[in-house]
Amino acid sequence: MQSRWFPLVLLAAALGGWMTAELAGDWMWLDHLTELVRTAFFAALKMIVAPLIFFSLFAGVMELRNSSSMGRLGAVTLAYYLVTTGIAVCIGLIVVLWFHPWTSLPPLVDDPSVLGGLTLADARLIDPGDGSTLTLVSNLLLRMLSNPFLSLSQMNVLGILVAAILFGLAAALTVSEDSPLPKLMRDLAQITYRVAAWVLRALPLGLFAIAYQMADQISLDTATALLQLGAVVLGATAFHGLVVLPLLGWLASGIPPWRLLSKIAAPLITALSTSSSAATLPLSMQTAEEKLGVDRARCAFVLPLGATANMDGTALFEGIAAIFLAYMFSVDLNTTSIIAIFLVAMLSSVGAPGIPSGSMAGMQMVMLAVGIPLEAIGLLLLIERPLDTFRTAVNVEGDLIATLVAKRFS
Ligand code: ASP
Repeated sequence: MQSRWFPLVLLAAALGGWMTAELAGDWMWLDHLTELVRTAFFAALKMIVAPLIFFSLFAGVMELRNSSSMGRLGAVTLAYYLVTTGIAVCIGLIVVLWFHPWTSLPPLVDDPSVLGGLTLADARLIDPGDGSTLTLVSNLLLRMLSNPFLSLSQMNVLGILVAAILFGLAAALTVSEDSPLPKLMRDLAQITYRVAAWVLRALPLGLFAIAYQMADQISLDTATALLQLGAVVLGATAFHGLVVLPLLGWLASGIPPWRLLSKIAAPLITALSTSSSAATLPLSMQTAEEKLGVDRARCAFVLPLGATANMDGTALFEGIAAIFLAYMFSVDLNTTSIIAIFLVAMLSSVGAPGIPSGSMAGMQMVMLAVGIPLEAIGLLLLIERPLDTFRTAVNVEGDLIATLVAKRFS
């Protein structure tokens, strides 16, 4: 399945380049058609961002109600998820600080404000204003404390995040045990996941149109930069998946890293081949019980929560990808932007559904946070499918090791 994508992208790019050079007049319809598909695909991706973030976070925060009633198990699991996701984003950001081979190549776009009619000031989550700390903080607060309906309609991700967390928390503390609200919010989150999955089904078509339209921009330099991004992401993901997580598992269970990895090989391979944490969940449950010896009650709490809310590989990828896109689209990043990338990558990995390319909606949230034009995601889509396999395996590995931590500490 994965291998079909790359030839498709190459074919579209070759066709696009050839058409522009040779046959533009007669084949204008193909140009218009791919432009239409590309625009519709981006519009559909943008359409799901706001409801996806809102409902998945609202539902996620309400779930905390269960974890607090589960006492120590809930606290240990949440702490583990928070810390390991934080470590993953840090690894990504530190690695990309040292290894960013693409900066020796020219950026793809010199002036990002020309893309898709977006201007940086519109897209930037935190407008630096006149640069003073006071203006920065006051702009930040205004963004955070905006009317939730306005935030949703204007795609102010910071406002959506704050509203979802605040209202979710208030709901968790207010509604009674038998209230239908938690189920309703879970259902609404599932519905937005389903719509996201439908949109992502059109990915091959979208990719074809994006690559065709980008044909003049997909130079050898751009292809090299994308491959370099792939190598940096893989290196950092491998470090987290082969060193950090197995070490944590070793500390928690005493099982040496290589034995631990061989015990959980089956779900890891399934995650690798399906690119879906959700699809791997049944096998993860079985493996945790039978191979890691964790009791069913713990597995039933830790793993389903992890399959939706704990995505180390995804968070790590999003951090590196944001830095890459900022360079390719000439967006300046300062310390505040790096902190914003860190926080939003963590949060958006919580909201990402465990399906192939599920994080692409959340990735847009990270991009919005630092003013990268949403259209830039087209470039990322060209390479993200093969990388999804490895990050999903690391997402699942993180959940399985969480069961060992929960067994030891709760
Ligand atoms: N495919 C990933 C998962 O299922 C989500 C993503 O990073 O796109 O865990």
